[in-house]
Amino acid sequence: MHRSYLMTLAAVMWLSLAAFILVLDGEPQREALPAPAAESTQAQPAGDERPATAPGDFRLPYDQYLITQGVHGYEYGHAAIDLGAGEGAPLYAPISGTVIVNTVDELQNTILVIENQRYAVTLMHGIYTVAPGDPLTIGDLIGSESNQGNTQDYDGVPCFYYGRDCGYHTHLNVLDKMSGQNVNPLDLVR
Ligand SMILES: [Zn+2]
Repeated sequence: MHRSYLMTLAAVMWLSLAAFILVLDGEPQREALPAPAAESTQAQPAGDERPATAPGDFRLPYDQYLITQGVHGYEYGHAAIDLGAGEGAPLYAPISGTVIVNTVDELQNTILVIENQRYAVTLMHGIYTVAPGDPLTIGDLIGSESNQGNTQDYDGVPCFYYGRDCGYHTHLNVLDKMSGQNVNPLDLVR
């Protein structure tokens, strides 16, 4: 009788202690929550809104790709390369900047232009899901690969115009506004 009373007392004390520890454990967590916010506020002084990326930062619009045509288009002043990864492959913003153009020209080419202080990047033939005025951060999803407009197979036979399932790629042009010249995008990622 006496022993079981002691055991009961011990059990009650242990449970109380456990509850006390749990409460203690809970309290600091609740108090700790605002701390990270305060730290991040300190890390970014008010008024100092540095961009996450520099205007000169550049990436290709694909994670993985094949070069389907090297630099071409000098003759019409639009030197570019063609990259392909397959129909529907996700396309990512090559630069941080603003969408300037999302249109379809008279040849039914879809055209997306993204621009910042350093570069104007033009992509063609894809399905683009961003609109003029949209601010973009490098790497943002901007659409998917397609064959819209003047696309051809490797034999030069039109794909999109004939409703053929081929010619999927991105025509990628980069104008370096510092030099006023079109540059090979591959040179920017080497
Ligand atoms: Zn091209």
